[in-house]
Amino acid sequence: MADEDEPIDPSEVGEADAPPVEEAPYKLIFEANKCFGAGKCAEVSDNWELSIQTGIAQPNVYFFGEDDLDHNVRAAEVCPAKKDRGVIHVIDRRTDEEIAPDPNGDGTVSVDW
Ligand code: SF4
Repeated sequence: MADEDEPIDPSEVGEADAPPVEEAPYKLIFEANKCFGAGKCAEVSDNWELSIQTGIAQPNVYFFGEDDLDHNVRAAEVCPAKKDRGVIHVIDRRTDEEIAPDPNGDGTVSVDW
């Protein structure tokens, strides 16, 4: 069991069922509990939908390649949650850096763990 105070390693999030990095070099970390259903993500990306049942967004896939990078980046950038810092995080699995929204400007993962 991981110690509660131990920082979470972004490289391990969701990796249990993940496709190989070569096939899907990007992944999403989604802070669903901080989504308030503004729906901006779904307007700019086919990967994002608002669930009628829960009233919050959900991605169709968490792992993807270059072809789907741009629209997922846009979704991350337009998300207004967390005072515009955003709750959709696009991570480069090869470097573990946050590509978007990257509010810190240095690739550190801006998830409130
Ligand atoms: S834009 Fe952000 S807050 Fe709005 S539905 Fe999408 S994830 Fe949720």
